[in-house]
Amino acid sequence: MKILKHAAGQIPNMELVGNIDESSDFSLIDIEGKELHLDCYEVSRINSVGVRKWILFFDALHKQGVKVFFYRISTALVDQFNYIKNFGAGGQVISATAPFNCESCRKMVLLEKFKKELVTTDLDEDLFLCPHCNKKSLRFDDVAEDYFFFWK
Ligand SMILES: [Zn+2]
Repeated sequence: MKILKHAAGQIPNMELVGNIDESSDFSLIDIEGKELHLDCYEVSRINSVGVRKWILFFDALHKQGVKVFFYRISTALVDQFNYIKNFGAGGQVISATAPFNCESCRKMVLLEKFKKELVTTDLDEDLFLCPHCNKKSLRFDDVAEDYFFFWK
């Protein structure tokens, strides 16, 4: 796991990249002030040791009064948020990465989705604009109620 620090003033201000496992060191995450805004788009995998480390770290931050916000959580993390009740450890998921398939050019596309979009759009029915072929033919590759269960 790599930890990237974004330019000053940018939100999210930190980013996690790669696999989360026994070698991951969360203590390298820089906490400035009382908020942490974490981009999780590039988290490819997390194993059971990684899950334990993740929960311990964010739970400790929560107890210190640091507010944690997760952005663009990867599909691997969406699974964990859905299966493990306290995976967020008091942190809030701002947006999630969701898989779409284009019915026109057949490419797989990941889109960032926000909770409020689930109210205004019907992910199981609506089609979205494909960045590859520019046609409105992206279809969500899962079931919205299951995939975004963690937001309930
Ligand atoms: Zn397309």
